[in-house]
Amino acid sequence: MPKKIAFKTLGCRLNQYETDSLVSQFKQNNYQIVDFNQDADAYIVNTCTVTNSGDKRSRQAYNNVLKRNNDAQLVVTGCMATQFKEKLENENKINFVVDNDRKAQIFDLIDSYFKNEIYQLNEQERSVFSFLPAKETFHTRSMIKIQDGCDNFCTYCIVPSVRGRAISRPENEIIDNINKVLDFGYKEIVLTGVNITRYEYKELAFDDLIEKILAIPRDFRLRISSVEPEGFTEKFYSLLKNPKLAPHLHLCIQSGSDKILQQMRRFYTVNEFKAITNNIRKQIPNFNITTDVIVGFPSENDKDFDDTLQTIEEIGFTHIHTFKYSVRNKTKAARMSEQVDAKVKTARSESVRLLAEKIKRKYRSGFIGKEQILLIERIENDIARGYGQHYIPIKIKATNLKENEFYSVKLISLEEGEDPFVWAELV
Ligand code: SF4
Repeated sequence: MPKKIAFKTLGCRLNQYETDSLVSQFKQNNYQIVDFNQDADAYIVNTCTVTNSGDKRSRQAYNNVLKRNNDAQLVVTGCMATQFKEKLENENKINFVVDNDRKAQIFDLIDSYFKNEIYQLNEQERSVFSFLPAKETFHTRSMIKIQDGCDNFCTYCIVPSVRGRAISRPENEIIDNINKVLDFGYKEIVLTGVNITRYEYKELAFDDLIEKILAIPRDFRLRISSVEPEGFTEKFYSLLKNPKLAPHLHLCIQSGSDKILQQMRRFYTVNEFKAITNNIRKQIPNFNITTDVIVGFPSENDKDFDDTLQTIEEIGFTHIHTFKYSVRNKTKAARMSEQVDAKVKTARSESVRLLAEKIKRKYRSGFIGKEQILLIERIENDIARGYGQHYIPIKIKATNLKENEFYSVKLISLEEGEDPFVWAELV
């Protein structure tokens, strides 16, 4: 009987990329991947520690396994595991606590265990790029890791201390990885990392890398995941018009108040950020820009928050991940005075959510009557779901349509409610 492996992944696309690669490696070695709630021979929890709730959901996930009292092996990895390694290792019921830069070796670790072979994880080379190209994964789009770590040290952020200093993956490995997953049949590539616009490998900068990827003479769509407002060169702006590049960026602003941006140690002002979004929209007027916003950063007063709301309205972010500031030990902001009351954070978070919903509806309804290239991600009950190139969620009747295929569609109506899908018909 094949051994059963179950995964739980929290946090960002980088974690998803790493889990996808491990899932694929286990499958290709005749292991069975089962749902996390099912019985398994080994459980792998890929944790997140960006916020308090990341920690909490990570703990819930591995405690969920511990409560089952079965003989399964439990591996806790990821950012929370890296942050609290010693503490977790003292929780004697967790079999393996694996740092981020040894995560790629989890297959060898577990496979050796089931083969009763000795595997000294701590003697293995530390590497954040030795993940194998992922064939069968949990996703229709293929995440491709191009970079890891960060040197920015924003005052609220724990990532540099759990993902390390910025490091860029060799260009040939990235191109090879992309060609491999296109061979596997993937149609959309999502570039991911921690601070990808800081990509730098030998002479190659981020815009050069994007140019090289777009030049791969194959049929695919390229999507760039979360980026910081840096590295936006004239060359990069001109590449935005390339039809293979999805006209959507998740461009993190964090606050719309210059006072707060300075205290966050962000390297731009609101006006400099707006200059970037204006330049993007000069290339493609209906380019989709989404973002992250932290509410309740220490000393954020009503005026600062009003500035944030006004900036959101002016830039027109169509989706906002809103984070209530949470204290991360070992960060500068944790030692700042004027911590904001939790109730105030909740109220501000709700205000951002309502404003973002309003902008989102307006943006998506602007596409009614227009065409999109839809990549179908899943078909259920004769309804196909997926995203257009502008990252608009689309639904269409699924008759004779297939998953993981591109279709030209015309958008016809917007659903009611929050985060509305847009209904479409084939062109
Ligand atoms: S840029 Fe700032 S927020 Fe982003 S990972 Fe680096 S330190 Fe964290």
